[in-house]
Formats: sequence, structure tokens, C-alpha cells
Amino acid sequence: MPSPDHHHHHQRRSGIEQSATAPRARGAARLSPAAVPENGADHDGWEPVKRRAIVPAMALTTIDRPSVCPLDCPDTCSLTVTIEDGRITRIRGSHANPYTAGVLCAKVPAYYPGFVHGPRRLLTPLRRVGKKGEGRFERIGWDDALDFVHDAFQSVLREHGPQAILPLNYAGPHGMLAAGSMDLRFFHRLGASLLWRGPLCGGIRTEAWLGTYGSTPGIPPEQAALAKLVIAWGNNVTWSNLHLVPQINRARRAGGKLVVVDPRRTKIAEQADLHVALRPGTDVVLAWAIAAELERGGGLDRAFIARHVHGFEQYMAEARRWTPAEAARVCGVPEAQIRTVAEWYQTMSPAAISVGNGLERNQNGGSGIRAVFALPALAGKWGVPGGGCINGAGQAFPKTPARLQRPDLVPAGTRTINIVDVGRHLLDPELRPPIKALFIYNHNPLVVHPDQNRMRRGLARDDVFVVGCDVVMTESLAYADVVLPACTHFEHDDVFAAYGQHWLQRAEPVITRQGEALPNTEIFRRLAARFGFTDSAFTASDADLMDDAFAVDDPRLLGMRPSEIPTDRALKMTFGGDEAVMFRNVFPATASKKIELVSSYLDTKYGAPLPSFRPVASPFPLSLISPASDQRITSTFGGASEQDAAPPLEMHPDDARARGFTDGQRVRIWNELGEVHLHLEITERVPPGVVCTLKGAWLRTSDNGQTISALCPAHHADISGGACFNDARVEVSAL
Ligand code: SF4
Repeated sequence: MPSPDHHHHHQRRSGIEQSATAPRARGAARLSPAAVPENGADHDGWEPVKRRAIVPAMALTTIDRPSVCPLDCPDTCSLTVTIEDGRITRIRGSHANPYTAGVLCAKVPAYYPGFVHGPRRLLTPLRRVGKKGEGRFERIGWDDALDFVHDAFQSVLREHGPQAILPLNYAGPHGMLAAGSMDLRFFHRLGASLLWRGPLCGGIRTEAWLGTYGSTPGIPPEQAALAKLVIAWGNNVTWSNLHLVPQINRARRAGGKLVVVDPRRTKIAEQADLHVALRPGTDVVLAWAIAAELERGGGLDRAFIARHVHGFEQYMAEARRWTPAEAARVCGVPEAQIRTVAEWYQTMSPAAISVGNGLERNQNGGSGIRAVFALPALAGKWGVPGGGCINGAGQAFPKTPARLQRPDLVPAGTRTINIVDVGRHLLDPELRPPIKALFIYNHNPLVVHPDQNRMRRGLARDDVFVVGCDVVMTESLAYADVVLPACTHFEHDDVFAAYGQHWLQRAEPVITRQGEALPNTEIFRRLAARFGFTDSAFTASDADLMDDAFAVDDPRLLGMRPSEIPTDRALKMTFGGDEAVMFRNVFPATASKKIELVSSYLDTKYGAPLPSFRPVASPFPLSLISPASDQRITSTFGGASEQDAAPPLEMHPDDARARGFTDGQRVRIWNELGEVHLHLEITERVPPGVVCTLKGAWLRTSDNGQTISALCPAHHADISGGACFNDARVEVSAL
């Protein structure tokens, strides 16, 4: 650990200028012994900073405090944070949440201290002095910053009306307060355009679930341990859903089998009893074929279907069109694998399916997920612990978004803009009203949106006023006119309802607010006051907001106010006192009260009563997938050179041979949208016809200012207007 003086040196109070040559984030603590080193011990150039062996006892006060990981990850670990002299020096897993049980991913202990205290941290408001994107800022005070935002917004309001203002926020922090509380109240009251955030990621899966099962939880991930068969479908659990691994291992020690469906041979795929390496975007065909094979083999639960399933005949009419041979051809997998999955699924119970976000990121995404969700309904797998789908965890909590976010404040007729379309709208001369002001927060749109080059042109418009609010200076914020420094969740109160497990947690600040940074809630409270919004919705304290986040009298809270949940334990969401088991203590909450294989909800909303399949038509021969990295949470923790080297492009030996490539050479990956340069890794980890690189690297890792999102199209999936990153089709040439 470096000396306190060293830290002060890096706490300089200016923005991005020093960051281009920033030294390694010095706050990084050593890996916690509890951390699970994923992907072997390979940390690509990153080396944990060694702690001093001897700490002068008089100089430091050391204290351990409980917290919760707020990142966009289904696991929502409970943490123990070590603070020395007011700075976070170590983060370990804690046992407050029995599900995460003291284990963390490697990235949080390695990178979070540097994220809080490192050289990219924003500590004061800033005003742009250079050109948009150049990254030159000067320090200003909060009063000036808020005046600046107020005056610019007022002029947009006068000229174009409130809908010319658009919040552009996503899922940086997942605490209920930081993610969407006072901020949304403010934008709702202002009458700003509404942003539909789900389509960027996870929204397709959510809508597919709501359309099939309604607002009800599936089984919690702990129940995977009870299964005789676990199917991880489009879910790289080792990197993105870590705590499912010990549950799967428990199941396997008791004789259970593991199937992994993923185009890429991930670590968990290597360990599986069967790895189905299907072509991206063909999941619906595979799941249909399994359903048809179940029927042929007598594997349907006719009594269950008659009682609990709506739309069986119509659904099967589609599924029956896919023989194993025909599906194998489209999915690019051996026919025998399809028969094996069907046979195992028929004969092994309980059977738990965990669905990740991998299979949603294409134009058939909703269909693929719905067809997977249909399998336990057809085979009658629900109704026992460990049976069904590990999904819908967000529905396990008694959330009250109407009270927390106050959608009733939205003026009638306010338009909603799909987050995937923001780049297009920014450049659309016909849009009425045009977007004239953006408020970017909890989000790094330049790195993560599809069609990156268009997003960049949109952000670069001089006639669009951009406010950027974040913890660290990002490449998106380089386009902001004014930058507001946000607190990390280690500096404010929040409550955490996970989206991958059933434990509710609360955290208090463990360090003081750094520099002049403020919590999101306070930033929008002050902004609301500037606009003269004085009613109690805008003066609510953080404790009030926490109490507004959940139904206080719901039995799941055991009589506690959310703001009083102890910080050293987690509250398990139970139903009649027990863990969720569908048809035992939780039930489908659809219009028909049945599992809807023909969905009235998805029919009304998207004209998609049934799953469907459309192949992607493109002149480019290779499918490009860009799954999550083990080094970042999407782009969070990116930006420091050591931990953000450009990932390689993985290509199958057959495709490399056809192009005369050698391992390690630089290649140009291109299509009609852009061009990205990476090193080639020739590997059988990806099937022929598929290339893969990991998402979220910052532009500074690139020699031409484009990263992999530049090649991803911005069209919509079959439901939820969802993003289709994995519909990218590319050619690869020598550079
Ligand atoms: S990113 Fe996920 S696995 Fe890692 S500490 Fe946070 S919640 Fe846990």
C-alpha cells in the first residue's frame, strides 16, 4: 500500500487531463484470500499492489465495516471493507449474505479501492473548456455547476419544451437509491422525455419472463444444489454469476449432471458433462427441437400441461417443425447432442435451468429465452425445490416503484425513448422535439452502446447540452459541458434488491464523501430545489427514499422498515415462510394464471404471441459475439491502462487458416458500421464461423478510437426493443 502522501498526490482536483498517463490505480489492495481467481491466475498485466508488511500502529486507524457490492451483477455480494485512515484499503467477502458466503469475484477487491481513491476519481464539479470529446475541463463550484445546468435546461425548456431534455442513465450502481429514485422524480416532474433503459441489457429476458410467468419469482439459485440436472444456458457463470458455481458443484457431487449451452467454450463449459456450442441467435431453434424431441420420447407432462399451461397446441405446432437433424443444421451442433439434452431433461429431476443474458443479445433473443422458459412447463419440472428456472429474482422483492420513482408526476403524453435509439435520435433532424439536452449518469454510453460511431457523432453535437455525472472521468463524460462528481456507494446509504438471488440487503456509508462528490440523491435534490420543486417528494431524505422503495408492511420485511434493515445480515425473501417453489408457494401471475406459451402480454406489447425465428441476413461471413469480461463489469473499472488492455479476437483455426492468419498477429475486424483492430488468438474456444472478443474495454485501449461496440448494429430484437449486439456480422483481414 502506498503512503498517504502518495494518495494525496493522486487526489488532484482536476478532471481528465492527468488520466491519459495515469499510473496504476494505487488504491488496489491485494486479492482477498476469499477471492476466486477466475480464468486461472491470468490477470493480463495486472499485478496486485502488495501491502506493506509492517504498518506503523500509531499512524493509522483501521476498521472493518459491512457493505454490499452495488455493481451490475446478479450476485450482489455482502462485503467487509477495511478502512485505514479514512481510505478503503481492502475489500473481502462477508458472510452477512449466506448465499455469497464470503466469496467475491477477483475484480472487486482488485479494482474497487482504486476506483474510489484513484487518479480518475472525480472530486469536484467541472466545466468544459476544450472541444467536445477533447477532455479539457476546469474546476468549478457546486453552485456554479447547478446554475449552469439550470440555466441551460431552462433555455431548452423555453425553446423546445421539456421533452427536448433526456436523462441517459443505465445500471452503473444497482442500489435502489442511486439507480433510480430522486433522479427519476426530478425528471418526471420536469416533464423530460422518458428513457426506456431495459432494452440495452436484461430487458428482453425480463419481458420474456413477465410474458410467460408474470410478475413472480422463479426458484432461487441455491436450489441448483438440489438438481439432478443443471443447464446453464447463455450464462458464463464463472465470470458473471460466480455464486452459482458452488451450487452446481454441490449438485454434481451428489451425482447431478451439467449441460452448458454457449457458443463459446467457457471455463464452465469445459467442466460440463455436455457443452452445446450453438451458433449465436439460434437458441430458439435448439429449444424448439428439444421440446419436439421430448414429445416424441414421451417426455411431456400431459397432466401438468392440461392444468397449468396456456397455448400448448399452438406452441408445439411451431416446435414440431424442428427435427433434431434440421435444428442441428441451423444451430451448427451435432444432432446427437440435441437428443442427449432432451433425454437427460426427460429422465432427470429436479432439473434447474439458469438463463443468462447471452442468448438475448440478438434479434431472436426474446424467442430464444421464451422457448427455454417453456421447457420446464412442457416437462412438468416445476413444483419441487430445484425444479424449473433460476430466473425472475427481481420479482422476489416487494418493490414499490410507484412510490419510489413517482411516475404519477410524468405529464400525460410524455414520449418514451428506447435507450438503444439514443444515438440515432441525437442525429435525427426530423425528431420533434429534438433532443437538445442530455443528462448522462450511471452510464458510459460511448463505450457500451451499439453503433458506437453514431453515438460519438451524437454526443459531439455542439447544439446538444450535455451534463455528465459519474464517479470517475469516463470517455463519455469527455463530451459533457458540465461534469458532476458522484459518490460511490461506499459514501452513501442504499438498499439492494438483487436481480440474481433472493436476499435483501442494506448498506451505510463506510467512508466520508470524497472531495466534493455527492450521492445521486443529493445531486437531484439540489437540482430539484433550483427548479423550485419544493414539495415533499423532493425533500425526502435517503431514509425516506429507502422506506418508499418497498412495501413496508409486507411480511417479507419481517416488520422492519427498509431503512432499518441491519447492515450485518441479509433478509431472505420467503413466501409463506419458505423459499420460492413455483406451484407450491408462488404461482404464475399472467392474465390466464397459467404459464403462457402463447403470451397475451407479449402479443399486446410487441405483436409476438409466440416465439419465432429469423436468420440474420448479412454479406459479412463471421458472427461476432462480445460477452462480459472478467476484468470489468461491462465498462466499470475500465480506464486504467493496466487493467484495460484491449482483449484479443478469438477465432477458430479453420477460419484463421482460410485467411492465412497466424496466432497473435494484428487484425482488422470490420463491417459497414466500423473497424476495430485487435490481436488474433487462434483457438478452438469458439466454433467455426464465430469470432469473439470481450466487451467493455475503453476507447483508450484502441489505436483508432473504436472498440467492439462500433461493429454492433442498433436494430431491435423481437421483444422489448432490445439491443442485438450478437447480430454483428464481420469480416476479418490482416492489418
Ligand atoms: S461484481 Fe458480482 S461477484 Fe463481484 S463482488 Fe460484486 S456482486 Fe460479487
